[in-house]
Amino acid sequence: MSSSLVNDVKTLLESRDPGQPEFHQAVMEVAESVAPVIEKNPELRKARVFERIMEPERVITFRVPWVDDRGNVQVNRGFRIEMNSAIGPYKGGLRFHPSVNLGILKFLAFEQVFKNSLTTLPMGGGKGGSDFDPKGKSDNEVMKFCQSFMMELFRHIGADTDVPAGDIGVGGREIGFMFGIYKKLTNRFEGVLTGKGLDWGGSLIRPEATGYGAVYFAQEMLATKNKDLNGKRCIVSGSGNVAQYTVEKLLDLGAKPMTLSDSDGYIYDEQGIDRDKLKFVMDLKNVRRGRIKEYADKYRTAVYTTIDSSKSYNPLWNHKAECAFPSATQNELNAKDAQNLLNNGVFVISEGANMPSTPDAVELFLDKKILYAPGKASNAGGVATSGLEMSQNSMRLNWTREEVDSRLKGIMKSIHKSCVDASNEYGHAGNYVMGANIAGFMKVVRAMTAQGIV
Ligand code: NDP
Repeated sequence: MSSSLVNDVKTLLESRDPGQPEFHQAVMEVAESVAPVIEKNPELRKARVFERIMEPERVITFRVPWVDDRGNVQVNRGFRIEMNSAIGPYKGGLRFHPSVNLGILKFLAFEQVFKNSLTTLPMGGGKGGSDFDPKGKSDNEVMKFCQSFMMELFRHIGADTDVPAGDIGVGGREIGFMFGIYKKLTNRFEGVLTGKGLDWGGSLIRPEATGYGAVYFAQEMLATKNKDLNGKRCIVSGSGNVAQYTVEKLLDLGAKPMTLSDSDGYIYDEQGIDRDKLKFVMDLKNVRRGRIKEYADKYRTAVYTTIDSSKSYNPLWNHKAECAFPSATQNELNAKDAQNLLNNGVFVISEGANMPSTPDAVELFLDKKILYAPGKASNAGGVATSGLEMSQNSMRLNWTREEVDSRLKGIMKSIHKSCVDASNEYGHAGNYVMGANIAGFMKVVRAMTAQGIV
């Protein structure tokens, strides 16, 4: 779509944010979706709402020095992007991965603003992390790193200011180490991080929430066609937090998950990944911190394929199935992969990861009018349940598993409805990308408008 907004945003990105391709990709997608809305409302253009929303309110970068087990000094870089606080305190995860840089975190923080808006809860958007690689590090080294990271971050965050959570490379272990040092530095026990352990302020269902939510969203989309997940063959990528609980919920609903992956390769299990096999994966990944290859060593029904980066496609996406749940990382699924999915009969895609499909892959899904849910809608269950953890912390109360799960289901239903309503209103029925972007954007813009130019 060409409009002056889209062209202006492109020019702005190229001149002010060079070398941040993922940020450009995320911003351009939203600009293209909301251009018709802004064109209908010239006062929004005049108020330069888009130019304001694409600029972080605050970016913090800092040095993270620590000493490894051999006594060597290591230096990493820490970041926190406080993107938008119009509808609530900044909220969004921390990612520890060697690929982390400013552009990747800005894309994630930007996406987070609209995702959080869709959840119906009062949360602004933020994201942070470090280029630290937890792989192969001892628990002691991870603790040392987390303590050094929080020794700077603590002064920028707080239960009513900015509430980080987990993301790639940050799970219960890391949240524990960061919470411990935050408490020591501030002398306050408060809900400053979510994804905490159940004994010290965590919420039931938070670990499960992103994966469960992505499956609930797929269920909602299927229901619009009077279909369900029972018996559906499913391709899942990743084998971390999101992938594991996606598989668990798929099994609850009678579907047949058949794949899992990590950055070295993937397994395809023709018999399906059942509950015992999932238990093995959870122990392998969360306790022994091993590689997914070991699944195929243990279960002879599975075939392991190593990632071959010289190939123009990933064979993971080239199996007969009805549904796919990309749950590893950004841009893991390109146009060739999208074509392979379509050729193999996939007609439901619910993204657990953030921006896992490249723009040309998304275009293909939209062209073919399959049930395609972008991550900012389908993976919002994670942050929504983090919001529920914040509510429980504020009330000094714990809800039961059933209560949190039923709220999560209700929120995913409401996000689905917001997407459908917004896409219908703007004449793009069935386009969940337009729906999610417009619905998420408008709520934040209304709040920003009411609060003046700040
Ligand atoms: P985890 O660290 O638990 O798992 C990440 C998984 O993805 C691992 O299997 C990892 O393999 C794989 N992976 C990571 N980077 C790459 C890469 N560059 N290429 C191939 N595989 C890779 O993270 P999560 O499960 O928490 O996060 C997965 C995705 O879901 C991310 O996009 C995240 O932003 C998104 N998300 C997570 C939420 C949450 O609540 N945790 C909420 C909403 C979105 P390996 O071990 O080899 O690195």
